[in-house]
Amino acid sequence: MKTLPHPQLNADLHCHSVVSDGTLPPEELARRAHANGVELWALTDHDEIGGQERALAAARALRLPYLTGTEISVTFANHTVHIVGLGFDHHNSDLAQGLRKTRGGREERAREMADGLAKVGIHGAFEGALRFAGNPELISRTHFARFMVETGVCQDTSEVFRRFLTENKPGFVPHRWANLRDAVSWITGAGGVAVIAHPARYGFTPNEEYALFTEFKNHGGQAVEVVTGSHSAAEAQRYASTALEFALAASRGSDFHSPDESHTDLGTLPFLPGQLTPVWELLADRIQ
Ligand code: AMP
Ligand code: MN
Ligand code: MN
Ligand code: MN
Repeated sequence: MKTLPHPQLNADLHCHSVVSDGTLPPEELARRAHANGVELWALTDHDEIGGQERALAAARALRLPYLTGTEISVTFANHTVHIVGLGFDHHNSDLAQGLRKTRGGREERAREMADGLAKVGIHGAFEGALRFAGNPELISRTHFARFMVETGVCQDTSEVFRRFLTENKPGFVPHRWANLRDAVSWITGAGGVAVIAHPARYGFTPNEEYALFTEFKNHGGQAVEVVTGSHSAAEAQRYASTALEFALAASRGSDFHSPDESHTDLGTLPFLPGQLTPVWELLADRIQ
């Protein structure tokens, strides 16, 4: 496939379909990305690559350059951190097995979340959330949030997270995800590039953040999301500096989940700052 080295490329390398916690099928995301002027796309469902064939076929039909993708849930320093993988071989069995293991605890966690919600008078949340989950193995807090908006408990999903689904709230259940070394090695072992997703979201102290970036590099991680739907302009500036400091390439992705919920649509982000190495320079030969 042709190489796309230019930093001012409308790449969107982070979004979700019904295969995880998005509301659109892969085919519709491909169409939406293409219509919005995306020039390089990746579908990055949480802990799951079951949508990759469909995304690839849809992108191919639109002549939209595509990179395989996923977003792995990791526990680091007692925080949940997300590691995006790009440009891997989606037939790799170690990656598939690692993701399967990472998905494994979700059902039990969801049942415990529902128990916590029942104690504050919200009943039937497990079954309710499951109805919103396109992929039952991927039942997530987002599906609980949609159920609780539907039943009128809250006005919107952010209110559900704030009142019920974050630490110390009735529907929150601490969970151990994959560890950082494993997640990075599943991605790199399958020929892909590992990317720290939306670093501003984690609420780390400077020391914890330094540890995350240092260990990530030591394990073979190569990039960080600088421009994302989860970052303000100031945060993008800040992580542009961090990318340079740690000699990491930079990624760009909307983290689009749903037309009704996401404030950043596919393909509508600002470009990467010019002095950074775009992650797609490392992946030129993996673009399909
Ligand atoms: P889970 O993997 O089940 O813990 O769910 C995490 C997902 O919840 C993230 O990928 C987001 O899509 C969503 N999420 C997390 N925090 C919020 C929030 N404050 N408002 C809306 N959605 C959120
Ligand atoms: Mn999500
Ligand atoms: Mn994420
Ligand atoms: Mn995401």
